[in-house]
Amino acid sequence: MSGSALFETFTRAPLAFDHGEGTWLVTDKGERYLDFGGGVAVNSLGHSHPHLVSALTEQAAKVWHVSNLYEIPGQSRLGERLADATFADKVFFTNSGAEALECAIKTARRYHFVKGHPERFRIITFEGAFHGRTLATIAAGGQYKYLEGFGPKVEGFDQVGFDDIDAAEKAITSETAAILIEPVQGEGGIRPVPTQSLKRLRQLCEQHGLLLIFDEVQCGIGRTGKLFAHEWAGVTPDIMAVAKGIGGGFPMGACLATDEAAVGMTAGVHGTTFGGNPLAMAVGNAVLDVVLEDGFLEDVQRKALLLKQGLASVADEFPDIVEDIRGTGLMLGLKCAAPNTKVNMALRDQHLLAVPAGDNVLRLLPPLTVTDAEIHEALDRIRAGARGLADAIAAAAAK
Ligand SMILES: *Cc1c(COP(=O)(O)O)cnc(C)c1O
Repeated sequence: MSGSALFETFTRAPLAFDHGEGTWLVTDKGERYLDFGGGVAVNSLGHSHPHLVSALTEQAAKVWHVSNLYEIPGQSRLGERLADATFADKVFFTNSGAEALECAIKTARRYHFVKGHPERFRIITFEGAFHGRTLATIAAGGQYKYLEGFGPKVEGFDQVGFDDIDAAEKAITSETAAILIEPVQGEGGIRPVPTQSLKRLRQLCEQHGLLLIFDEVQCGIGRTGKLFAHEWAGVTPDIMAVAKGIGGGFPMGACLATDEAAVGMTAGVHGTTFGGNPLAMAVGNAVLDVVLEDGFLEDVQRKALLLKQGLASVADEFPDIVEDIRGTGLMLGLKCAAPNTKVNMALRDQHLLAVPAGDNVLRLLPPLTVTDAEIHEALDRIRAGARGLADAIAAAAAK
């Protein structure tokens, strides 16, 4: 055996965290890190949020799992709350983002099947998309680096350029079932899709009888300062995939749909063993308790502005390290001039955690509960990291 007993699929930083408190993670050696990666937009309420801890431990003392053979009251409650807060009428709970997308894709295909059009199964997606790592979702994402070596690509996904709505229109055929898009691309490099483009996609779907699917796995649950990112555009989908932040660290996801879009998802056609189990539902309901509190999302918007303005001044000060600031809400990206992995390492040296993305971007995804003081602290650390890296680059050039 070489190295550890784990698959070598991850390149891990040599850090092991023992516990977390709010925006902070503490290593097994007692070193404190400011967590602006948030477990890749998952720790929406930070670490050890008291309301989530009590929701989980109270449920743990009652019942963990019963399966979907029985009623799960927490599931009905969370489903109703999500439906009340969104365009949706119906919800299916999953364990992950990829499974929420699988459900979304299956829902769209089944819709056309029960409407008498089984030939309409193709889905249009966009360059730079990320929808998960299952066989269907790597085909949807269309990225060669995730497809290579895994056999024939799952049939039925047609990709066009990022924000190329004309190309999307041209790609529509009599076999097209749906259009799938992240309102703000995450892994692709924190790229918001313009409001006008989302509106045009909605119109195209109306004209051609297609379903519009939003992937809000990363940008949903308050990340952009609205419960869902598409609310900024005033455009609603027919189907939406959610995960990451909704569990605040407990693995869970959801596929939301209108009654009409979910018409094909009848008894027995889809299922899950773990999805929507009582532990996940207790935590999901607790996350919503906090995010839907009066003023919570407005405060996210205010803090996001504070962070974005601070980052803009860092970019001004260190143009050789940071070229530009992208994104919206607490989903921000440093478009790096130096390699993003180097910038990430320089910030980690300052005990600030971030997450690399495509297009040479470094993502900042702090908990929505981050404080103003922590934002100022993070900006100081980013400035120090950028200065350190700029000095190192200058020293190497002088040799
Ligand atoms: C993370 C992510 C997924 C996949 O979620 P998993 O829980 O890793 O399966 C899908 N779509 C988007 C936009 C994501 O950010």
